[in-house]
Amino acid sequence: MYEELKKNDKVLFKAVHGELLRQQNKLELIASENYTSTTVLEALGSVLTNKYAEGYPGKRYYGGCEFVDIAEKLAIDRAKKLFKAEHANVQPHSGTQANITAYLSLINPGDTVLGLNLSHGGHLSHGHPLNFSGRYFKIVTINVNKETELIDYEEMAKTIEKERPRLIMAGASNYSRIWDWKRIKKMADAWKCFLVTDVAHYAGLIVAGIYPSPVEYADIVTTTTHKTLRGPRGGLILSKSVYARAVDRTNFPGNQGGPLMHAIAGKAVCFGEALKPGFKDYQKNVLANARRLAKELADRGYRIVSGGTDCHLLSLDLRSKNVTGKEAEAVLDRAGITVNKNTIPYDPQPPMVTSGVRIGTPAITTRGMGRKEMAEVAEYMDEAVKNRGNESRLKEVAGKVENLCKKFPIYPGLES
Ligand SMILES: *Cc1c(COP(=O)(O)O)cnc(C)c1O
Repeated sequence: MYEELKKNDKVLFKAVHGELLRQQNKLELIASENYTSTTVLEALGSVLTNKYAEGYPGKRYYGGCEFVDIAEKLAIDRAKKLFKAEHANVQPHSGTQANITAYLSLINPGDTVLGLNLSHGGHLSHGHPLNFSGRYFKIVTINVNKETELIDYEEMAKTIEKERPRLIMAGASNYSRIWDWKRIKKMADAWKCFLVTDVAHYAGLIVAGIYPSPVEYADIVTTTTHKTLRGPRGGLILSKSVYARAVDRTNFPGNQGGPLMHAIAGKAVCFGEALKPGFKDYQKNVLANARRLAKELADRGYRIVSGGTDCHLLSLDLRSKNVTGKEAEAVLDRAGITVNKNTIPYDPQPPMVTSGVRIGTPAITTRGMGRKEMAEVAEYMDEAVKNRGNESRLKEVAGKVENLCKKFPIYPGLES
């Protein structure tokens, strides 16, 4: 594969091939990553990348859009069916772009937004001071409860009453429990503010029916398409019909130029795959694997934030092992296990150090690993952390990790 690249751009070929081998031979436990199907890869690598198609199907600013219109309509129709949504915009280049559109469809710069504290699991685009969200809006944050580590709806109600936000942004990058969308909707209605839910992480589980959907409650729902949904890198916006026009105009020409038609084609493939019955089984396995991995790690003396998980990810508190998130990320990497350091709620360490790592099962489940393998994964993680000063032991673990990975090939056709 990649014959032309190999011939015409050796340096880049090396990088792409190296990345393929890394994805093949290491354990990908980053909760926001996955392996798309080769069908999605084909759509992404298609001639649709050549086409300018500013506007929307049937209403373009360029000629020659009859075929990309088919692709985009397909993506829209499938997205609406998949999420049972009244309106879908498949053009956002990323989750962050989708969030820019969501905010600016409903409120104005200077308005107040309530979101989950970034160091408690929130996302940059929910109000980080350096992000557009933190620069355009006045941000007020809520924390999880210190004892339970769950969203504190009473604190949320008090904060809403005190700060009177125009918009509630609900959703997270590192929160493994169920969001009570209905309860938040009630609060939003009581205080006449908009509700946007960002399900970037949960989307795949939601369409499979194993995590609650916010679609009936939220004014706008945003998501990425590349995490549990297992599609191409990109964003998606769903909304009630009343906001359809505002969403479309805010995304284009408001916030983006020409859509990435190859990515939209990839999204159409992804939504088609997610509509098939096998996708539900996949998501069930993602969840079952996350719960098993959490248990296996807990059995080895690691504390799981909030005591467990209801989705594809878990947050590990490493303090009992006297290791920081930063050290754990580095040592696991040497053992062939890829994770990201992440703050835990009320983390005593700064964000560049942290006391935790975030772990997810979407990618390893896609490659076919099951409950039995979760015990192995936990064992290798623990061995690596325990032997963090011992380079030869780490090499040994990396070898075992590679052997495990070899049993679960990711893109058999691509390697040759
Ligand atoms: C990943 C994520 C995003 C952003 O996605 P990008 O495509 O990286 O911009 C937005 N919101 C949440 C909650 C996320 O987890």
